Amino acid sequence: MSAGGVEALASEVRSGARSGREVVEESLGAIEDRNPDLAAFLRVMADEARAAADRVDAMVRAGDDPGPLAGVPVALKDNFCTRGVPTTCGSKILDGWRPPYSATVVRRLVDAGAVIVGKTNLDEFAMGSSTENSAFGATHNPHDPARVPGGSSGGSAAAVGADLVPLSFGSDTGGSIRQPASFCGVVGVKPTYGLVSRYGLVAFASSLDQIGPFGRSVRDAAVGLEVVAGHDPADSTSIHGDAPAVTPRLDEGVEGLRVGLVRELTGVDGLQPEVAQATSSAATALEAAGAIVDEVSVPSAAEALSAYYLLAPAEASSNLARFDGVRYGLRVDGDDVESMMAATRAAGFGAEVKRRIMLGTYALSAGYYDAYYGTAQRVRTLVIRDFDDVYRDHDVLLSPTSPTTAFALGERVDDPLAMYLSDVCTVPSNLSGHPAMNVPFGTDAAGLPIGVQVLAPALGEPVMFRVARAIELAALEGVSS
Ligand code: GLN
Repeated sequence: MSAGGVEALASEVRSGARSGREVVEESLGAIEDRNPDLAAFLRVMADEARAAADRVDAMVRAGDDPGPLAGVPVALKDNFCTRGVPTTCGSKILDGWRPPYSATVVRRLVDAGAVIVGKTNLDEFAMGSSTENSAFGATHNPHDPARVPGGSSGGSAAAVGADLVPLSFGSDTGGSIRQPASFCGVVGVKPTYGLVSRYGLVAFASSLDQIGPFGRSVRDAAVGLEVVAGHDPADSTSIHGDAPAVTPRLDEGVEGLRVGLVRELTGVDGLQPEVAQATSSAATALEAAGAIVDEVSVPSAAEALSAYYLLAPAEASSNLARFDGVRYGLRVDGDDVESMMAATRAAGFGAEVKRRIMLGTYALSAGYYDAYYGTAQRVRTLVIRDFDDVYRDHDVLLSPTSPTTAFALGERVDDPLAMYLSDVCTVPSNLSGHPAMNVPFGTDAAGLPIGVQVLAPALGEPVMFRVARAIELAALEGVSS
């Protein structure tokens, strides 16, 4: 659909060489062919997409510029509010709910000429690492249908990985963009906290949530990020000032950049040897391209996962209190208000969401607050300090994205701790608020994609993408195999 990437596709549509309608039909056709097996989409917005494509074509005919994503089909994780279009968060509790407004990201995409083709599957309320926690069934990995696509943004990652759309978006609270990107062999970016507006993103853990793009190339992801990034007065955590430009410097190379290989994350328990090998080959490739690579220590990085699994559930237990049977979606009747709420929440939430609410409520309860929530906050401070120390003399850091390649469907559903461990390399950047991204780098013996993670300090997206681009070039030259 877009061999030349999203910029080439948009410029073909802008010049009239291809119609937006033709492009969207191609995407809808691919979805119709593959989605029954993949279950990447919960909802295909075929009529809306055709109408949007026709509007783009009408602008082109009128001599107007529809924008940098003219006619580009885009998929959205189903926790982004889309006005009038059901937004489920992969949960039964939002049954029948249609948001009265669209997320800022959705509006920015549409204003840039993008054509929204549908809403993608996710772990319920973005809690999970495999998309198996969706109330509507699991998504399958496009590289092997017996394996998970990762999660929680598994549908968005699979949609790009299977070439159903050239660009999609997800949310990342502890790794939910980067880990599925690594499992599906695509680029996935968690931007700096506050760079992309969360207005209209259904909140999971507000101090950690960020929206970001999936693309087939580093450049496509950069283009997607630039369209959605930038200040939004509707999100009180939104960074003021201009978003850093990423695309102009993408091909400047890595000569002289200082890259640190994070010891604690390259030595995690259960690390698949091929993933370790790929990470060190990526480091070697950067060195060959002129970067200065050494090993660094971020001592608290290994503790970040434990802190995350206290902080994220604590915030979730508070955010999810709003699903009470009164304001949104599902209502199960009861004798009085309290029993109605209890019955609604018992029927509407799945097992993992209930587990998180209980963990979070416990961590915040009187008498335990300091021991759990307070300690986790102190670990978070240490993570921030440790990163600050290494970024004093390093431009970016490198690690695996996830300790393993895609695991089998069903393999970890009964073992929450094993599931949680697939986030060990991604959560530190959520705790610190820093950007990080996945770049595909080779495959394992089973032919499954391996992902390498590039981490950068706050607003370090320009340098992070340059390094990711250099890794991508090395992969294209076959250094990863
Ligand atoms: N897998 C992690 C969790 O279950 C991260 C989820 C996310 O980033 N939304 O919490």
